Formats: sequence, structure tokens, C-alpha cells
Amino acid sequence: MMGAGVAGLRAAIELAAAGRVLVLAKKEAGVSPQPAPDMTLSDEDEVTLHLQDTLSAGDGLCNPAAVKILLEEGPGRIDELMAWGRPRGTKLVFGLENAHSRHRSLHAEGESTGGEILRALRTKAESLKNISIAQFTFSTALLTDAGHITGVSLLDEKGVPQEVACSAVLLATGGMGQLYRNTTNSAEATADGVALAYRAGVEVSDLEFIQFHPTALYMKKVPRFLLSEELRAEGAHLRNLEMNRFMGKYHPMGEQAPRDLVARAIVHEMEVSRAKDPFVYLDLTHLNSSKVQKRFPRIYATCMQHNLDITEDMIPVRPAAHCAMGGVRTNLDGKTNVEGLYAAGEAAATGVHGANRLPGNSLLEGLVYGARAGQAMRQEAKPVSRPTAEPKAAYSNGPVDAGVEELIVLIQALMESELGVVRTRMGMQKAVTTLEEMAPKLAHPKTRRAYEASNLHLAALLVARSALAREESRGAHYRREYPDHDDKKFLKRSVIRGDKVIFVS
Ligand SMILES: Cc1cc2nc3c(=O)[nH]c(=O)nc-3n(C[C@H](O)[C@H](O)[C@H](O)COP(=O)(O)OP(=O)(O)OC[C@H]3O[C@@H](n4cnc5c(N)ncnc54)[C@H](O)[C@@H]3O)c2cc1C
Repeated sequence: MMGAGVAGLRAAIELAAAGRVLVLAKKEAGVSPQPAPDMTLSDEDEVTLHLQDTLSAGDGLCNPAAVKILLEEGPGRIDELMAWGRPRGTKLVFGLENAHSRHRSLHAEGESTGGEILRALRTKAESLKNISIAQFTFSTALLTDAGHITGVSLLDEKGVPQEVACSAVLLATGGMGQLYRNTTNSAEATADGVALAYRAGVEVSDLEFIQFHPTALYMKKVPRFLLSEELRAEGAHLRNLEMNRFMGKYHPMGEQAPRDLVARAIVHEMEVSRAKDPFVYLDLTHLNSSKVQKRFPRIYATCMQHNLDITEDMIPVRPAAHCAMGGVRTNLDGKTNVEGLYAAGEAAATGVHGANRLPGNSLLEGLVYGARAGQAMRQEAKPVSRPTAEPKAAYSNGPVDAGVEELIVLIQALMESELGVVRTRMGMQKAVTTLEEMAPKLAHPKTRRAYEASNLHLAALLVARSALAREESRGAHYRREYPDHDDKKFLKRSVIRGDKVIFVS
């Protein structure tokens, strides 16, 4: 298993019945790098309504069969989880989130549902003797022979290159937010799965669709902490630098408009402000102060660490890259077009999300599709010639290759300006040309950071090529010169095969 998040751990638990499972994590395993407050599901809910909300967020590109599986298998996966390790704050609450028509966001323990899910999965995985977890182990490539996976090469915790033989691999490496200068994602989200898969000849899909969360905390030298949608659902207002509320100009639902519309409205307000370093404000000062502190303890505490009292001060915010809808193309069992290679979770493109994610569906996807991939991988279990190979050569883990950080900053700045919330042909072409010129500098990575830079570079090119090919606006992909849907040509998913972007129904 490449990855020890929700998808990787859930798959490992399923696969352990069939043989030995090695779970790799480039940092600590089973730790939530960010607060993931919600998972969508409700006992009282009509599955059909949740299905409709998901399909409507996906803007015509969801695979309805994939969504149906998510919603039908979700309750069973959550019951299992509760049996393995009931979230500590046993009270589960359902809330209303942006783009949902019913209260179906499940919270455990205040705002840390993702952390509680990972805790339960890790405890279960550690109780199974067939599962070993290798932390701080960085996968660098997939090994294939005659179109079949034969193993993985990696840098171990000391930075020494190794090869591990295996009969199947699951890519569960998470998202690609680090492609952007402003992101809610952790430093681990460097698109490794997509890059490794593409280099191994695997199809990747829907990469042009990157969801930007409209409201991430924007303060100098402070991580782009996510200020959840629920703040606006509780009545928070957005104000421009002149302190005027503006969402009413853009959408009748005001602050409750869909995520991508709010992000675009903020970008427009930032453009017209002509400020050198623009942002807008999220304003909660009119809401009941103790209610805000009680309802959002983690957000309140985090902002207080930066001397910002959200009950009294305006919060500076900007949109930030949040989730990837695309990834490694799979069927409904997580299988890719290379034998023995599977993908699940945010690294995968199962068709659940289409052109945009419904908030809160991601953790559920990791559970449901992680389990499905683990089940499907059981058929691949067979003895491998050698469980681990000897180290090939020793490389130092640091200092980082000269210039690598500068290249990463360049890639992130380019993606932020040319492949952000609003895109143009000229900007994206410039991005592709600049990235192509940069390629030789990243061709021979040796350290982890250089591998990450190389993966980010490749993923950036793939995102840019997909976005250029989609000459319309849909879901999270917005092009200034094509502001509308073009269903005739583009009611299809993008797939990258080799150096071609094609569109398939
Ligand atoms: C701030 C924030 C809030 C969110 N809130 C919600 C929410 O409320 N509800 C919801 O449903 N979703 C939410 N999401 C999305 C959701 O958290 C993610 O989509 C989901 O956790 C992804 O799980 P995953 O298992 O696919 O990957 P991850 O949990 O990201 O795990 C990836 C794993 O892969 C490992 N890895 C990566 N590359 C390598 C490599 N080269 N070698 C070895 N290991 C590697 C990492 O170390 C890690 O263990 C949120 C996301 C963010 C950023």
C-alpha cells in the first residue's frame, strides 16, 4: 500500500486476510495532517437526495454507478469503523454544509472527524499480524515487467534506495495541493501517485478539475488553514477590503452559493481592489461569541494562536487549492490499466466526483473505495520471489539538491497565477512552455525533496495540458474565454494516454 491515510489503511485491513501487506507512508502513518471536520452520511437521509447533490456538484461528469456504490456501501463501512474504535466523543452530530440539501455531515469529536477515523483505522491495522507499516519511507517509482507490477522502489527512512518486490500495489498517496502556492493541503500532498503512475504508463483522468476552497486563512508566514464552509452556513459574511458585503452581486444564495462560485467572486473582488497583496474578509463578529467558540473550537483556537480573535476580528481570507477531483484512472474496484496496480482515495479518479466534489464525500470515498480495492487485490496475492531487496546505493537525505526549493516555488507560483480559479488560454500556454523548459533541471532526482519536485513538475504539466484541452467551463474548471458549458464536445471525462489528452464518454 503506498499511503497510510484513510484509503491506504482501509485497503490494507481488507487485504490482510489474503497475505502480507506492507503499508508505506512518507511521514507518520495514520495521522490526519489537517482537520477534516465532516463525512457525509445520514441515517435519516434519502440516498437519492445525496446522489442528486453529488451528481449536481459533479456538473455532468460523475459516473452515477460509482456514486451509487459510495452511498450504498458507505453506511456499512461506517458501522465497521464504529465497531473498531468508536470515535471518542461518542456523540455524532449531523450538520448542513454548502451544496447539500439536507443535514448529512457527520461530525465526531468537535471538528476532527478525519483524525478520529484515522485513529480507528490505524488501531485496527496494527492489530492484524499480516500488516507492517513503514513510516518515513518514500516511494520513488513503480516497477513493472511486461505490463504487470513487480514492485516499488523507495528511499527508506535513512534515505537509502531500496526495492520491494510485490504482486500488487495500491496508490493511496492523497492529493496534489502542493502544486499551488496557496493550499489547505499538508506538505505531503505532492501528487506523487499521479506522477509515479503516469511514468509507469498508467492512464490519468480529470486532472483539470482542482477544487479551490474559497476561504483559507491568509496571513503572512501562517499556513493556509481552512476556514470551513460551516462558518458561512452559521451566518458568517464575506466583505471586501472596503468592508462591503459582495456575494449578493454574484449569486442569489449569497454566501451560501456553491464553493467554486464563491471562490470566483472572491477572486474578482481581489482583482478589482487592485491591492498589491489582495484578500477579502470573513466576518463573524455579528454572531454570538460563545456559540462560535463552542461550535468551532479548533478554528477559534488556531486563529487565536495568530492573535486573531474570530469573535471580534475580521478574518483575512483567500481561495486556496483544496481537493483534486482527478487522479489515477480506475474502474469501480480501483483497478488501473496496468495489471496489479490499483488506486484509491484522493489519488484516484473513480468517477465519484466528476467536475467538482461535494464537500464531505472524500473521507467516505477513501473508506468505501479503499475497501473495494483491498478486496479486489486479494486475487493478486501470490508468493513473490524476494520480499525485499538489498540497498542499491547510499544517498544522503539532505541537504536538498541545490535549487530544488526555488524550482518548487516557481512551479507553485506558475500554477497559482495561470491554473488557479480563473484560467485563460494564454496563461496556460505560458505555463506549459515554462514547465517544459524547466524539465531538464528535474530529470535526475536523488533526494526525497528532489523527487517531490519532479513529481510536482510532471503533475503540473499534466494538469495544464488537461485544462488547456477542455475548452469550456465546468465544475471547478473555469476559463475566461469559454465561460459556459459545451456539452456537445465536452460532456466527457478527460483521459491522458501517453502525451495525448482525449475525451471519453
Ligand atoms: C484542510 C482539509 C480539510 C478537509 N476536510 C474534509 C472533510 O471535512 N470531509 C471530507 O470528507 N474530506 C475532507 N478533506 C479531504 C480529505 O481529508 C482527503 O481527501 C482524504 O483524507 C484523502 O485521503 P487519502 O487516504 O486518499 O490520502 P491521505 O490521507 O492524504 O494520505 C496519503 C498517504 O500517502 C502517503 N504518501 C504520499 N506520497 C507518498 C510516497 N511517495 N511514498 C510513500 N507514501 C506516500 C502519505 O504519507 C500519506 O500517508 C479535507 C482536506 C483538507 C486538506
